[in-house]
Formats: sequence, structure tokens, C-alpha cells
Amino acid sequence: MVEQMETLQAQDSGERAPQRLDEDGRPVTAVVLMSGGLDSRLAARIMLEQGVRVVALNYRTCFCTCTPKHGCGSEAAKASRELGVPLKVVNHTRAFIEIVKNPPHGYGRHMNPCIDCRIQMFRAAREYMDKVGAHFLVTGEVLGQRPMSQRRDAMRLIDREAGTGGIILRPLCARHLPPTRPEEKGWVDRDTLLDISGRSRKPQMALAEQFGMTDYPCAAGGCLLTYEGFARKVRDLIEHMPEAQARDFQLLKLGRHFRLPGGGKAIVGRDAGENERLRKCAREGDVVYERSETVGPVVLLCDARDTNDGALAAALCVTYSKLGDAPFGCVRYYTKGDETRVRPMQVAPLDRPTVEALHV
Ligand code: SF4
Repeated sequence: MVEQMETLQAQDSGERAPQRLDEDGRPVTAVVLMSGGLDSRLAARIMLEQGVRVVALNYRTCFCTCTPKHGCGSEAAKASRELGVPLKVVNHTRAFIEIVKNPPHGYGRHMNPCIDCRIQMFRAAREYMDKVGAHFLVTGEVLGQRPMSQRRDAMRLIDREAGTGGIILRPLCARHLPPTRPEEKGWVDRDTLLDISGRSRKPQMALAEQFGMTDYPCAAGGCLLTYEGFARKVRDLIEHMPEAQARDFQLLKLGRHFRLPGGGKAIVGRDAGENERLRKCAREGDVVYERSETVGPVVLLCDARDTNDGALAAALCVTYSKLGDAPFGCVRYYTKGDETRVRPMQVAPLDRPTVEALHV
């Protein structure tokens, strides 16, 4: 199930409570699902305070808002370093895409299939827990914090379908929930666990202060599927291309998207960086449009089946570049795989209602 893994080692083991041992004298070990946000940091820290050995697991997909330098991935690495625990990163994009296309438990407010996402995430965590010989799983979930996946009945459903019932400890809200295996076994003290619930962040911030944690990211969502504009593009893609793969979803992060009447899609770069990436992303048969006499965007036309889509893609290239008072603009274009045949074209810009009607 795990598609890709990388391991980052802890840099600083720091001060620790005495290590807890199980009945066989093995160090009690928890796999903590680490997004890098405050809640998962606190959950890990609570375990360390109890003398539990922690291995952090960061679950990523192409829908994370993070980049290699910013976002949940780098925050998870930073948090793990600060806590002095090793981090394992897993990328589940391929399997997750199938869930996004057809989630058995439906979507949240936008295109976020949170229940199925967590079922998959917990299954992967369970698999990893068994692999590393850990005793249980830990999350930073708080009862009632998220409307879809952190309700009591949803948590029960997720645990049941992921096969993680009783082995997931949620230290921030554990006292609202039935005792879990690690509590029953005496691997952690239930009395020291918390009873936070609801959407307020104040209890977590107070706890962070108590632990001397000052540098943590804000609680803003790290999942593109919860953003209305991105969700629209995902919906459009699934509707027009049921067989869409990771590359097609990755492209949704780049540029402005337009669905054309012939079924093709034009993506208009918004800056030099996106223009360059669009050129590189072109697949055999895609058509690349650029302004030939002035600065302008790169337009990538994918899945075009009729020539009118080509004319509209060229017109978008002119529409989003400086034209002054000229009624037409010059565009050059080539088909990926046949780059030596660069052709010129003169085209008028589109009017605003047309642009808006095509915009995804
Ligand atoms: S917000 Fe996104 S990453 Fe978080 S549970 Fe929902 S689908 Fe998964």
C-alpha cells in the first residue's frame, strides 16, 4: 500500500521521561500521524512525556498545499527534529486519486473525501505500525474539530473500516472516548490524557505554552481539495477525464484553467515560473502556444479534438498578454513531439463574457 517512503532521522534526542516497557520488556512505541500542525505536535509530545517511544509518520498526497520548502511536509520534518523523533514520509497519491474520483463515503463541503482519506491513511499507518513493531497509533485529532471526519460516529466508522479500533489513541480528546488498548494495557496513563473538544484552538495553544512550544504553523488547512476554486477544477477533470492520473491532477495546481467547447482544456500560465513548468509538462500531442512578438503567457492545450479549441487557446494567449489597442496579436505554436514545426497565427482576444464562460 505504501507507495513511496523516505526517512528523516531525528537530530536531537533531548531530555526524555524514563522509557516505558511492555510486558515483554520491549520499549512501548507509538506511531504518531504527524502533519506538523500544532495538534499532532502536541499529541507526540504527550507521548514523549509519558516515556513512550515515538516514530512520526507523515502522509502526503499531491493535494497537500505543501511545497518542498513550505507546508505540511517541511513542518512535519521540522516538528520531528524539534521533538527528537524519527520521521517516515509516505506518499499515497496514486491510491488516493482513485478515492477522490469515487469516494464510498462521499465528499465533504468541496471535493474532500475526508472519511475515505482517513480510512486509507489509518490503514497505511497500521501497516507501518506492524512493520516497525510499534504498539499503537496516535493522532492529534480533537472530537468535534472537523465537521466530516472528527465526529464521534465518523471516528468509529473510520476505525472500524481501517481495522484500527482500539489501537488509535487520540491524546487530546481521549477522555471523551472509550479507553483504548494502550490505556487498558497500562502503556499510557489515561489520567494524564486530555478532554479537549470543539473548534476552539485555545486549549491547544495553552498546552503549547505549557510545553514551551512557540514556533508552530497556524491551523489553516493543508489540503487543496477543501478549497472551492481547486475543487471546481477537480470536478471538471473527473467529469471530462475519468481515467485522469496523478499528472493530470498535478496540472490543476498550475495556471488558469479553461474547458473548451470541443472538450479540450487550455491552461494559461500566470508567471514565468508557471510558463516554464507548463512547457515541461506538455505531453506528446499537447499543443503549446506563446506570443511571438511580445511577452505573454504560455498556453498548454490538452486533449484537443477539434480545431476550434486550438483557435480559442491561441486567443486566450493573446487575451492574457499586453495587446494595447491592436485588434490582433501574433502567436506561435507547436505540437509536443513535433517541436520543429513551429507555426504562426494571428488572432483576436476574447471578450470578458467568453473568458468567464470558459473558465473552470
Ligand atoms: S482535508 Fe484533505 S487531507 Fe484532510 S482528511 Fe480531508 S481529504 Fe484528507
